[in-house]
Amino acid sequence: MVYQQSSWLIGDGKSVLFWSEKWLDSSLVDKLNVSSCCHLLKTRVAAFISNQQWALPMRSSTLFPDVAKQIIETPLPSAPECDLLIWENSTSGLFSFSEGYDLFRRRFGVQADWATTIWKGFIPPHFSMLAWRLFHLKLPTVDQLQRRGIPIVSVCQLCPFGHVEDLPHLFVNCSFAQHVWQWLACYYGTYLPSHGPLLDFWDSFMSKAFSPQLKNLWLASGLFALMAIWKSRNKLRFENK
Ligand SMILES: [Zn+2]
Repeated sequence: MVYQQSSWLIGDGKSVLFWSEKWLDSSLVDKLNVSSCCHLLKTRVAAFISNQQWALPMRSSTLFPDVAKQIIETPLPSAPECDLLIWENSTSGLFSFSEGYDLFRRRFGVQADWATTIWKGFIPPHFSMLAWRLFHLKLPTVDQLQRRGIPIVSVCQLCPFGHVEDLPHLFVNCSFAQHVWQWLACYYGTYLPSHGPLLDFWDSFMSKAFSPQLKNLWLASGLFALMAIWKSRNKLRFENK
C-alpha cells in the first residue's frame, strides 16, 4: 500500500528508471505494455532531460502522443536537484509511522489536509505535481532564483504594477490571478479571498461546503487554475506572449 501511494518527483532524473518506476500516475511499463525484459528498462529519466527541459525523441509524440504530452507537462526544477520519492499522502512527502496511521485514520472519515486533497485518481498527475511543488515553495519564480544567486529582475509580468514576483503574489495576490479566481468563484456561486498567504488561500478554497461530486469538480478547477496561471506566466516570460 505504501509503494502504491508513493511516486518520484523528478529533479535531475538520475535516480529514477524511466520505464519501470512510478513518476507519472503509473509506470510507463504499465501505461504502454512494454516488455519487462527490454534492455531500455535500465534507462534513467535523466536521459530525457537537457538543460532542465524535457528532451523526448521526436517520434515519441507520434507514437505515444498522450504519454509524451503528460511527460512534457510535468514540471521540472529550474536548477538540477535530486529526485525525491514522495509519500503522496503527507505534507512533507516523507513517510512516517504517524502518517501511515493518518492514512488509516482518514479511511474512517476524518478530514484530510491539503496534501491528501491534491492527489486524486481523476486529477492528471502533472496538475498535482505543480500544486505539490507550489505548496513546498519549489517552483522557480524570480524570488527563488534570486535566493540561489541568479541575478534577475524580480517584477511580475502578469500585472502592470511592478510587484515582486513571489509565489503568494503570482498565485493569489496578482491582479491576473485574482481575475482567474474571482471568475471561478463567480461561476460556482461562491467567493474567495482577494489576497492573503498561499496556504490560507488554499485552505479557504478547500473549505467550501459543496456536495462531494461538486467538490471534486471544484478541486479540479482549482488545480487547473493554478496550472493556467503558471503557464501564462511562463509564456509571457519565455515567449513574450
Ligand atoms: Zn502580478
